[in-house]
Amino acid sequence: MRGIHWFRNDLRLRDNRALNEMLASCEEWLPVFVIDPRLMPGSPEVSPRARFLLDCLERLGAELDRRGLPLVIRRGLPEDVLPGLVVETGARSLSFGAATTPFGRRRDAAVRDDLAANGVETICVRDEGILSGGRILSGSGKPYEVYSPYRKAWWRLWNESPELPVQCPDLPPPIEGFDKDRAPVLVDRMQEQTRISLPTGGERAARRRLATFLEGPVSQYHEDRDRPDRDGTSRLSPYLRFGVISARQCFARALETRSLRPESAEGIDKWLDELIWREFYQDVLCAQPRVLRESFRPEYDLVEWNDDPDGFAAWAEGRTGYPIVDAGMRQLRQTAWMHNRVRMIVASFLTKDLLIDWRRGEALFMDLLVDGDPASNNGGWQWAASTGTDPQPYFRVFNPVTQGRRFDPDGRYVRRWVPELRNVPLEFLHAPWEMERPPRRYPAPIVDHPERRKIAIERFERARVDRVNGTPS
Ligand SMILES: Cc1cc2nc3c(=O)[nH]c(=O)nc-3n(C[C@H](O)[C@H](O)[C@H](O)COP(=O)(O)OP(=O)(O)OC[C@H]3O[C@@H](n4cnc5c(N)ncnc54)[C@H](O)[C@@H]3O)c2cc1C
Repeated sequence: MRGIHWFRNDLRLRDNRALNEMLASCEEWLPVFVIDPRLMPGSPEVSPRARFLLDCLERLGAELDRRGLPLVIRRGLPEDVLPGLVVETGARSLSFGAATTPFGRRRDAAVRDDLAANGVETICVRDEGILSGGRILSGSGKPYEVYSPYRKAWWRLWNESPELPVQCPDLPPPIEGFDKDRAPVLVDRMQEQTRISLPTGGERAARRRLATFLEGPVSQYHEDRDRPDRDGTSRLSPYLRFGVISARQCFARALETRSLRPESAEGIDKWLDELIWREFYQDVLCAQPRVLRESFRPEYDLVEWNDDPDGFAAWAEGRTGYPIVDAGMRQLRQTAWMHNRVRMIVASFLTKDLLIDWRRGEALFMDLLVDGDPASNNGGWQWAASTGTDPQPYFRVFNPVTQGRRFDPDGRYVRRWVPELRNVPLEFLHAPWEMERPPRRYPAPIVDHPERRKIAIERFERARVDRVNGTPS
């Protein structure tokens, strides 16, 4: 019996359920990755996410090589490449982790149908979360739309039937006749070009990062997670994005740490909560794929958005005149990552202060983030824009000055990313326009926050009324 594992967003050998299931009945197999031109986000020269992916792929290839297995990398549409490869190898089964996006699900269905017509089994396991996907349903059998009851149901299910990481099995030998392919990109050359230094890819780096985080920072996570000036979060998001480490492995290790160090329980529990948020957004996307195009709350598709190219450019380039917003956007441009608290602040600023459609911010984040993930990014944007799952109403509008003062109280974050403000005294740092002589090289605020807050609330209110009356303006 021969099988193929199609690696996608599960670039790991450990705790990989689809792989394990396929290997359980195979004597020979082939690990395969298909570079799909529809998905490779932009040109690898400029996309940090593509670079990180290819680095992880290279490292996966090296690990397989050490175990005497070639990682076969093909370019093209998986719907064309995989059936061909199945014929070439004589494989009788193909395994892969199930997709959550509408595009991925359509593609997987096409591959599955084609192979089924030729009598080839597909093993498709939804495995991106901790609990097997799609199991968390309300009493009426529907998916949850609000996080707190979802979280409660999640823990109930976990306590009834916990799901633990599975061991990496002994790997059977490869199907003969295939050579190892190298991931097709020179990562070092590209790093020079874009000057963004990305985290090291691969399972070993991910496990090391998890261990370091659980040894120290997690104890203070409940306090530090909102402080962009501190290194208080795990920075595991790119690894989780590509399944280089599984959420289940993270969850299980964190639980072990909690039982060994009960004094760290508060931080650990908060961190576990974030992993469950990730799962919540995946389940929302699976249940309602329309959210990638439409507002989760349909009434807010009637919000009148501004067409403001100058405002968008100022936001995207970090020159809005609001220090915490600009610091966040510059951190994003220079590191391909942004702190969660600041993601919320900049998203609120784009959608409420500039009244620009959340979809534009979502798309820019997907271009720039190394961890850009359709479910979490969409969930985060819709949450911040009040069009999503947040039960708080639309009049939650973040004030960039008070947010800055509260979460960057010593100004370290702003000073790091906005050098023009380095010498501004702390009392003015988050509102430099209040100085008698504001720094000349830093822009004045492009909008008046209190005024824009009022307009935003009016527009959201009008959308709700229009929805009720059935009269979109
Ligand atoms: C507007 C906006 C856009 C976002 N876009 C993305 C995205 O494209 N990809 C992405 O992975 N996360 C996204 N997030 C969520 C969050 O900002 C990042 O997951 C987090 O900052 C990653 O840093 P970390 O690994 O140090 O997180 P930690 O604080 O260490 O959390 C551990 C893990 O939990 C998950 N997680 C944490 N917070 C959230 C959250 N709010 N929602 C979903 N999962 C979460 C992530 O996988 C993260 O790696 C977005 C949030 C907002 C507000």
